[in-house]
Amino acid sequence: MAFDRFGRNIHYMRISLTDHCNLRCVYCMPEDMTFRPSAELLQDDELIVLMRLFTSLGFDKFRLTGGEPTVRAHIVDLVQEMTAVPGVRFMTMTTNGVLLGKLAAPLKAAGLQRVNISLDTLDPDRFKRLTRWGSLEQVWEGILAAEQAGLAPVKINAVVVRGYNERDVPDLARLTLEHPWQVRFIEMMPFAGATELQKTQVVPQKEMIERIQADLGPLEPANDGKLDGEARLFRLPGGLGEVGFISSVTVPFCASCTRARLTADGKLRLCLLREKEVDLLTPLRAGAGLGELRKLVLDGVWHKPWGHGLADGQVALNRGMSEIGG
Ligand code: SAM
Ligand code: SF4
Repeated sequence: MAFDRFGRNIHYMRISLTDHCNLRCVYCMPEDMTFRPSAELLQDDELIVLMRLFTSLGFDKFRLTGGEPTVRAHIVDLVQEMTAVPGVRFMTMTTNGVLLGKLAAPLKAAGLQRVNISLDTLDPDRFKRLTRWGSLEQVWEGILAAEQAGLAPVKINAVVVRGYNERDVPDLARLTLEHPWQVRFIEMMPFAGATELQKTQVVPQKEMIERIQADLGPLEPANDGKLDGEARLFRLPGGLGEVGFISSVTVPFCASCTRARLTADGKLRLCLLREKEVDLLTPLRAGAGLGELRKLVLDGVWHKPWGHGLADGQVALNRGMSEIGG
């Protein structure tokens, strides 16, 4: 098992399968984003070696992310290979949903259990403005396809950006009245790439709750008030689904963090919002044995930072969000 200095058992790995993406969300990357050449990214066989290493250290929960994980070549075969690694108990994916219309059923058949789909507004024009290249219709089809394929319960992620979609919060929350979905509102976080917007246009959880309650009535705490992963959950009276808030900026949840991340270029990142990383790809390609890699992971986890420093104005600027994987 992998523990850090603060006694947290780190057993949840988020793996960025690629930094590439078929959208250009304003809160994530610039429109003229340049990506890493594929040769610099972890190859399929390297990923499987690292998966085996992680499960041998007690990691049992995995989330595939990016960039956009569905644009990775042979994604269905890769998911099948990854879920077949002994010790993998949960395998989920965070996706923008663009390709789910055709990929949801094959991904489910390959062993994927659930998906989180990003959807920041139900207005087609504002969707285009936020994602720059996206089509709301296509993502909506993807959400329905995911549900039909049994990648359930569907979770929807909405990043709220002042001046873009703060007025859409109640309409997104309203989805939970008729659908058994979890709609989670995310406070925007700062990274490299779109830092100015990310720092100045944050909409705090408190305001999101006020906007929802003004339109839809009181939010009742759900899940016995406990965190579901990083989300605080509520329910609208009579609703089938849940409304969640992921509020790293104003209500951090670092104390209960169980996560590490693997970047697409093979670095173990110990905190989303801290620059500290451990290179695994270079030693792997240099022929390091499992014992050496194991030590690198255990040492890295041991030195996992306690939490982020957003409250003190500290921003990790060595990477953008799409390179780390949210
Ligand atoms: N492309 C996939 C997607 O959009 O769902 C997966 C990768 S994306 C980086 C993972 C999650 O991070 C998405 O839910 C996205 O909305 C969120 N995200 C991106 N930039 C963010 C930021 N600056 N602050 C908070 N969340 C962000
Ligand atoms: Fe792509 Fe996801 Fe970033 Fe949007 S949030 S640009 S879909 S990686």
